[in-house]
Amino acid sequence: MRALVVEDEAALRQSLKSELAAAGFSVDVAQDGEEGLFAGLEYPLDVALIDLGLPKLSGLEVIRRLRAAHKTYPILILTARDNWQDKVEGLQAGADDYVAKPFHFEEVLARLQALLRRAGGWASPELKCGPVTLDTRAQTVAVDGVAVELTTFEYRILEHLMLRAGEVISKAELTERLYDQDFERDSNVIEVLVGRLRRKLDPNEQLKPIETLRGRGYRFSLARQSAG
Ligand code: CA
Repeated sequence: MRALVVEDEAALRQSLKSELAAAGFSVDVAQDGEEGLFAGLEYPLDVALIDLGLPKLSGLEVIRRLRAAHKTYPILILTARDNWQDKVEGLQAGADDYVAKPFHFEEVLARLQALLRRAGGWASPELKCGPVTLDTRAQTVAVDGVAVELTTFEYRILEHLMLRAGEVISKAELTERLYDQDFERDSNVIEVLVGRLRRKLDPNEQLKPIETLRGRGYRFSLARQSAG
């Protein structure tokens, strides 16, 4: 999952970046409203965290312009005070949820994960498709109740495919969502990782959980069990 953090306080921006990276996100950062708007318009994001009090362009204005440009990914706002007007204005501008500073990172993470699940049509933090269960909180995967060990990148690919189970995801999109702007991208790596994922989830080639659609991408094709 690729997240954007727009926050002008350097220490907070850095800590959000490193904690989100540790939680499995690829993270882009921006330090003012103008940079944030640029990143929000140009990068293929899954979610954005936007501080409301920003230099150059306010967080509210950034959100309004992103929504006006038909960017539909979930947005979580960071409000400086426990001020209900800020929250109401943020939600009216197009944000989906808010966290008031100071916050515990766990709260930010839980809200982001909930927004991402709902954006994918899932109500529960456990994604179940056929016999495959992915727990987005524990970041664990099981097939028929038996745990499957995945690397960080394998997990990220599977989470992305399962959150949007049934949809075709292009190789380019997967590549862009897995790496932030500082990373060298190579779509051949995705092919290798998907191949490994298939062998781990389906060693006997009975399930065929991940379909390849020639020239279009991949689709997690096992039926969802608990779509919300
Ligand atoms: Ca601020």
